[in-house]
Amino acid sequence: MQSLTAFRKSLLSEMPDNPLGIVASPVRGYVWPTFRCSIGCAHCNFSSLPRLERGQRETIDPVQIADWLAEAKARTLILCGGGEPLDEPEFCERAIRRAGEHSLNVGIYTSGVSLSRPQAVEDYVETWRAALGSSHAWFALRLSIDTFHAERIGIAHLAEWITVVRRLAPDWRLSLRGLSLDGDMSVSELAGELGADLVPQGKRSVRLNLKDGTGITVERTGFVLDGRASLEQLARRGLRIPAAQGESLASWTRLVGRTRRIGRPLSRRLPVAKTRVDLEIHSDSAVHVLESQAFDLRLSSRSHTWREMTDLYYRDPLIHAVVIAGLALVAQCLREAIESGVADRGTVPFSIEQIRDPALLDRVTAMVVMALETVVPYPSEVSARAAAFLCA
Ligand code: SF4
Repeated sequence: MQSLTAFRKSLLSEMPDNPLGIVASPVRGYVWPTFRCSIGCAHCNFSSLPRLERGQRETIDPVQIADWLAEAKARTLILCGGGEPLDEPEFCERAIRRAGEHSLNVGIYTSGVSLSRPQAVEDYVETWRAALGSSHAWFALRLSIDTFHAERIGIAHLAEWITVVRRLAPDWRLSLRGLSLDGDMSVSELAGELGADLVPQGKRSVRLNLKDGTGITVERTGFVLDGRASLEQLARRGLRIPAAQGESLASWTRLVGRTRRIGRPLSRRLPVAKTRVDLEIHSDSAVHVLESQAFDLRLSSRSHTWREMTDLYYRDPLIHAVVIAGLALVAQCLREAIESGVADRGTVPFSIEQIRDPALLDRVTAMVVMALETVVPYPSEVSARAAAFLCA
């Protein structure tokens, strides 16, 4: 794991433990069994590949991470990506078993297919049910559906999952996750395959009403312009960002260009608040406050408890920024850095996670302190240090 930059180390040493009073325990741990994915969707915002990239190491252990989350007093363990969880079936089974022993709620977010380790849908469902044992906590399965997934793996497997889960595990929470894109017909096609009706449900979801009288929610999330995804790629497929979102996006594309990465300007506000923190635990064992963890402050679940991590994490002004204003405040600081030539145009504005330049990370940290000093009770030494950094 990286260590803090010199400036951030000095700043955090002056900072009280938890000046915002952020809640002690996380709610959800989003656990990545692997960085790899055998599917290879064109729009993958993780840029997942079937093999590890240079420098990537996978050290996560399913039993240890379930124990770690239970000790942190988290309520839920979600297996997701990063990569594709179904490419690591033994990891999933062992994590589910251990989470069940701790009475943690469990979820899996998946494409529904592994091209490297294919299995029958019945086998997944029966294995996971057996692993859960007599746990009374809930189990949630969320399947991805969009044009890009359909290009690679079709949609027939989704109809099969729905049928099998309804038959073998009717108590599971089953949902679908689509994209909020005009022209994406994948959900309509699945409805046709199932003989289901599609009923709008609020701004961001639709409901698939099945012939048996039950229904499944399809959440539509904002398109993430990171990794392999770009607006040009949507245009080539006849897909469009909805008009209302397109307007807010335009000022960012003017800044960095239509083919560049922007991050998550179209996402909902992250569930990181004073009263709620969710974590992402990557397959290298690093624990991230969701989308908020700078590269120099990522501690390993193998060497630190959550309590020990919060002693450092909750001092970081970047996490304070996300708690107070989501990624928008950090994006505004990065915009100013790009416009003034301090950051290059390849900078991803809506991403703390993608800031790789130590000098830029220091600058954005100092900018955030100055922006928050009237909201957060920072000691005068902290504000003075940030101000001096920006004047130097
Ligand atoms: S979007 Fe999901 S299924 Fe597609 S390549 Fe990325 S991790 Fe794999």
